[in-house]
Amino acid sequence: MLSFCEVTRQFRGPEGQVCAVRNISLSVNQGELVAVQGPSGSGKTTLLLMAGGLLKPTEGTVSFGGGNIYALTANQRSALRAKQMGFVFQQFHLIPYLTVWRNVLSPAGASRQPDARSRAKELIHHFNLEHRSKHVPSQLSTGERQRTALARALLNRPGIILADEPTGNLDEANADVVLKYLSEFASAGGAVLLVTHDARAAGYADRTMHMDGGSIVNA
Ligand code: ADP
Ligand code: MG
Repeated sequence: MLSFCEVTRQFRGPEGQVCAVRNISLSVNQGELVAVQGPSGSGKTTLLLMAGGLLKPTEGTVSFGGGNIYALTANQRSALRAKQMGFVFQQFHLIPYLTVWRNVLSPAGASRQPDARSRAKELIHHFNLEHRSKHVPSQLSTGERQRTALARALLNRPGIILADEPTGNLDEANADVVLKYLSEFASAGGAVLLVTHDARAAGYADRTMHMDGGSIVNA
């Protein structure tokens, strides 16, 4: 589904070139949760941004469904992202002035077709948020915020979820709930690329890779 072939990404920093991701090849197949675990600064977010079509590699190719996503136009890439990719972040990135219901429905765009509304209802039920659907994010617990972000990521039935430290702000119990949902999404035929410093993610992953200094290293 998603594959990286000899991908490198450099940044120009104040002290010269920084190689954030160094010659990484990896793939995430349908039905799999792949975890990339590594310390802060190891290149995880850079890797995830490239997977999401948000950052072009300096070298190498990132493919989704067989095609190089950076060979697409920016508009085609946005459409691919909206239809096929769901994002979940440590900071949730919920829209503060919208209720849970409207946050979950937001990827449907202005049309808000009946199908999107029934899907939102189903997800709010699935993530145990029914009693919170009229609340805004500041009225939610951190676990509820992350479950809202997950529901929103799933609204358009993406093929893959890209998750960047999704448990970074959660206590252990809520982190386990979120990891369990991600692994269920993968088992149900989705795919998940999870990047994290949290060693517990490995317990939920089909495969775990370790990253350090921009490279995949042996654990
Ligand atoms: P992680 O998510 O594992 O903490 P990042 O991918 O954010 O790591 O960063 C990897 C390295 O690349 C770090 O040294 C970071 O400072 C550098 N880096 C990331 N983004 C940029 C950028 N936009 N400009 C310059 N350097 C960057
Ligand atoms: Mg990061």
